[in-house]
Amino acid sequence: MKYFSTNNKAIRVSFREATLKGLAEDGGLFMPVEIHSLLSDFWKNISSKSFKEISFESAKLFIEEEIPENNLEKIIDTTINFPAPLVELNANKFVLELFHGPTLAFKDFGARFMAQTMAYFNKDEQKELTILVATSGDTGSAVAYGFHNVEGIKVILLYPSDKVSQIQEKQLTTIGGNITALEILGNFDDCQTLVKQAFTNPELNKKLRLTSANSINIARLIPQSFYYLNAFALLKEKDKPLYIAVPSGNFGNLTAGLFAFKLGLPVEKFIAALNVNKVFLDYLKSGKFAPRPSVKTLSNAMDVGNPSNFNRIIDLFNNDHKRISNLIYSASFTDLQTEEAVKSFYNKYEYIFDPHGAVGQLAMDEFLLTQNHNDFNAIVLETAHPAKFLDSIDENLSQMIDMPERLKKCLKKKKHSIKLSSDFADLKDFLLSI
Ligand SMILES: *Cc1c(COP(=O)(O)O)cnc(C)c1O
Repeated sequence: MKYFSTNNKAIRVSFREATLKGLAEDGGLFMPVEIHSLLSDFWKNISSKSFKEISFESAKLFIEEEIPENNLEKIIDTTINFPAPLVELNANKFVLELFHGPTLAFKDFGARFMAQTMAYFNKDEQKELTILVATSGDTGSAVAYGFHNVEGIKVILLYPSDKVSQIQEKQLTTIGGNITALEILGNFDDCQTLVKQAFTNPELNKKLRLTSANSINIARLIPQSFYYLNAFALLKEKDKPLYIAVPSGNFGNLTAGLFAFKLGLPVEKFIAALNVNKVFLDYLKSGKFAPRPSVKTLSNAMDVGNPSNFNRIIDLFNNDHKRISNLIYSASFTDLQTEEAVKSFYNKYEYIFDPHGAVGQLAMDEFLLTQNHNDFNAIVLETAHPAKFLDSIDENLSQMIDMPERLKKCLKKKKHSIKLSSDFADLKDFLLSI
């Protein structure tokens, strides 16, 4: 499969190059030239397929011969090695739990797959690969754990000081080994800008082999489409209209859902669930995309004022605003609504959502009010384990949440980070010194 840049469709690179580069030289995002529907046989037999089989068959469409089948199978085996269960809230509402990986958030899927793919493509290279990651919390730890102890690869994480939860900070700063955490005195958008500046800086690129591992890397998006397909496989009644709500920030997860749609997943509506950072909702309403600085909220992994995957979504639908707004509904909620929702959803469904998932369920419920029937499958993606956000969950409820063992362990470790300003010169000096 060839990949083009969203800034210039004439540019064609291999999956290998797209993965190792992360971002195209012209600053655009890599996109597959075409996404074919999976064969009708696949769809006919999907209920009997395992998560790994589904992942393998769809991965092949994006990668083709560039990774031999036995290597690809191994990659899937070591990355898609934890479940994504579909939990029933009631007869037609479901939660797709994506937090059963090592860092308790959905980003483990993409990060682990990308890490193994990069390691595969990098195995014959002499020079070390340096991966720069801007993180609003969950990306960094997922990527870092994915790459931890992978030979020939070094990871530099940039996270906004004071703008991630305590637990997230611990997860980012306690890994050690080939992972370094930079604490940036700025917000997430500053971190993202710094990373982009580094990629286009000639001096840095002469000295280092730099690549990205944000949701802009296509190798992270592809595996995120697998769990959408697997969720469909798990549904008992597949003929009903399918609605999927995605708590969104940089829109990588939603874009992966759109990939699954292009692979033939019969989704009637995607619901882009947002906190008050709602430039996408405004785009759906007005047709105009107007990035803004992000605002801090309880669902902090969704605090993005300039979603980096927006151009991919536009591209998938040839910039046709009408088609996009027909397929995607969006809704935005405040922190107060989110906090209340965590409590009310517990009372209603006996299920404790984390703040991101709660925004997802709120958006789903708002959308369902616009539908006057009851015959549907409504799936909300639960993107993180609630134990990661104990501070923002009502005390009575938070006491009921079991802290997973892997999280307890990491909380006991000591934080290691290097503080830097949001001035690019400082980052450059640092990178030239390592
Ligand atoms: C990253 C993240 C999101 C947002 O996902 P995008 O792909 O950036 O839209 C939502 N919830 C959680 C818990 C996250 O970590």
